[in-house]
Amino acid sequence: MAEVVRPSTCVVAVDGPSGSGKSTVSRRLATLIDGIYLDTGAMYRAITWAVLESGVDISDTDAVTKVAHETALFVGTDPAAPTFRANEVTVDVAIRGPEVTKAVSAVASIPAVRAQLVAQQKAIIAAAPRIIVEGRDIASVVAPDADLKVYLTASAAARAARRSAEDATDVKATEADLIRRDTIDSTRKADPLKLAAGAIEVDTTGMGIDEVVSTLLDMLNSKVSK
Ligand code: C5P
Repeated sequence: MAEVVRPSTCVVAVDGPSGSGKSTVSRRLATLIDGIYLDTGAMYRAITWAVLESGVDISDTDAVTKVAHETALFVGTDPAAPTFRANEVTVDVAIRGPEVTKAVSAVASIPAVRAQLVAQQKAIIAAAPRIIVEGRDIASVVAPDADLKVYLTASAAARAARRSAEDATDVKATEADLIRRDTIDSTRKADPLKLAAGAIEVDTTGMGIDEVVSTLLDMLNSKVSK
């Protein structure tokens, strides 16, 4: 493992498609540098959970936006236990379920929903001395001035294999769902998933988690020690 240097302040942006290892890597990195961890995907998932609970039609943009505005979203940033609450309900398990996973990319493609969550994300980042932020638009929109911007990728097969090992789902069905979400996320008009200016692409296909964490730590050390 690379040497751990704890900078006094730093923002690390970790973007990439579903299943590229962003969450595990970001949490490990946050713990190592004694920072906090912001899972922006969980924010979109928690709002989607609230939308589904409300019973509004998911294709009704105005109704979905209204529910988003009315949802009190508590965002946990402890890398050891990043708990989320929507309107006082703990949603950590529910937001990983198939209903939310199926609907989240549609909710996340609504510009007003994104504007609301991006504002909340920027406020959390501004208040944190050291933070690792993972998502799809972190380097391009949320934190373009981040000290380190990483774009994690892996082949669809590798990403599906990792995901289904985590949640015991069928590999083929998982791969089809990852590709479906990636297509929506990278082709939407509002803040699509893309390799941002200044971001370093790391293809994690065939890499173990320790190797990825170590690679990012080396990159961070060289950025913050400059
Ligand atoms: O990272 P995760 O798979 O939990 O994200 C769920 C969904 O939330 C993504 O498929 C994407 O539609 C949306 N998302 C987004 N922008 C982010 C993070 C997630 O649009 N910064």
